[in-house]
Amino acid sequence: MKAMRSNRGRTRPERMFASLLWRLGFRYVTPDGYRSVHGERFLGQPDLIFTRKRVVIFVDGCFWHGCPRCHNVEADCNEFWQHKIEGNRIRDRRVTKQLEREDWTVIRVWEHDLRSSRGRERVVRRVGKRLSKK
Ligand SMILES: [Zn+2]
Repeated sequence: MKAMRSNRGRTRPERMFASLLWRLGFRYVTPDGYRSVHGERFLGQPDLIFTRKRVVIFVDGCFWHGCPRCHNVEADCNEFWQHKIEGNRIRDRRVTKQLEREDWTVIRVWEHDLRSSRGRERVVRRVGKRLSKK
């Protein structure tokens, strides 16, 4: 099932979103890039890290993170997956809070918002505003 691909594998819409931001001049590193520079994993492994501006973006997969628009977790998933998704959501909230305490701005984007080019542009505008402010 497509939705069950690995949690942080990057999809084509995510790559297009990232390269759109890059073309607009917003410079970020990936968690791997961060790790090679700083020698440690970035908490929660965001998709994009804007180190100087202290902004991170997580693209949350609709299945894995229990998107309420795309899934009705209780109706669609058995107990095993409900449990797993709930665990992911708890971890997401914990990671967000911890990063905010460390003065990072955390932006979470649903995977479904990046599927169309219009959706991607909308998110880029929103994110661009936050990045320009800092
Ligand atoms: Zn969704």
